Amino acid sequence: MQSERPGTVGSERIVPLSVPALHGNEWRYVKECLDTGWVSSAGPFVDRFERDLAKYVGVGHAVATVNGTAALHIALRVALVREDDEVLVPTLTFIAPVNAIRYCGAHPVFIDADPATWQMDVSKVRQFLTEQCSVEPAVDGIGMECRNTRTGRRVRAILPVHTLGLACEIDRIVDLARQYALQVVEDAAEAMGVCYGGRHVGTFGDIGVFSFNGNKIITSGGGGMVVTDNPASARLARYLTTQARDDQFEYLHNEVGYNYRLTSLQAALGVAQLEQLNTFIAKKRAIAHTYATALRDLDCVTVMPCPPQVQSTYWLYTILLSEETMLTDRTIFIQALRARGIDARPLWHPIHRLPPYRHCQTVAIEHSLALYKRGLSLPCSVGMTEQQLHQCVTTVKEILAAHGVLH
Ligand SMILES: *Cc1c(COP(=O)(O)O)cnc(C)c1O
Repeated sequence: MQSERPGTVGSERIVPLSVPALHGNEWRYVKECLDTGWVSSAGPFVDRFERDLAKYVGVGHAVATVNGTAALHIALRVALVREDDEVLVPTLTFIAPVNAIRYCGAHPVFIDADPATWQMDVSKVRQFLTEQCSVEPAVDGIGMECRNTRTGRRVRAILPVHTLGLACEIDRIVDLARQYALQVVEDAAEAMGVCYGGRHVGTFGDIGVFSFNGNKIITSGGGGMVVTDNPASARLARYLTTQARDDQFEYLHNEVGYNYRLTSLQAALGVAQLEQLNTFIAKKRAIAHTYATALRDLDCVTVMPCPPQVQSTYWLYTILLSEETMLTDRTIFIQALRARGIDARPLWHPIHRLPPYRHCQTVAIEHSLALYKRGLSLPCSVGMTEQQLHQCVTTVKEILAAHGVLH
């Protein structure tokens, strides 16, 4: 029996949403691992992946991890997020960053999405901080700390997420964080290669995170990276990802660590993929341009935003249906696309409404739910053909024209 492969839904051949392209040096580097016996975390490829990535994004240090979620967990630990702290995070995101906050025993405070950029709304971060928080001398006597006057808990960090290959207003977030004695842990898992005002996202905060999961712009099968300019933070991240071992010879551990280190086999894939990143970005931008040109004049569609200060990669090309769209309309639309051989996915369900997080604090959430109901992502693999892209554009237009409900 044949198992399901990328590019198939059930047994039908369809245009997939986003699948990896593995046509560079992947085979050669993985073979090198096998030929030399370096398959686990030791060996040259992990170091090389870290070095190449740090150079690419322009940051001092990079520490490879088994996946992006583990990288977030470590980044929050390095930012000294502790049990019972609070961390500000957008509600319209993939769930990984929110789960990572809980792994630390801390509590998410959910921030709305800006309807224009679809990213965490900075004015609502400010609203929360000015209306509900005070900056006081830290309990342990070192420096200042931010306290939520309603819950009495310490607010330790902001965890902005750059979603869909776009960027949030990271410079304004960092400014606010400095005013309120907060750490910034940047989730750039979906934004490898995205720049904000010419500088790579993931490098603005105290610490940043990338993911190389199979559906990301480059993949190592599974993998993640913690990046920082602070050498002490990088050292701590490396220490925590390797079981917090304090001695190279004796098994001495002074803290609870994790086995989060990337393997050489995965890093070999990552190195080969990173070599092709610029080509992939060019292809994603060309796909985005084609969709935007074809769809932006339709009343019933809002195309992906492109703020002037953001150099987007459009990792996952996403559109919004008209403002009147209901959940059922959007689901019908996606099903119609799939019936015509085109994969499409909804945007993420806002996290503050999901069972594990329903009781958590929210800040003026007005737009995230509507974005979720109206949003869907379209096929945008870097390997897709002109003919496939043309098929996607025409099918989207035909279905919009055929369904009165979609206006
Ligand atoms: C993919 C992703 C991650 C990390 O995912 P892993 O699958 O653990 O590598 C984290 N945050 C966001 C926003 C993501 O999309």
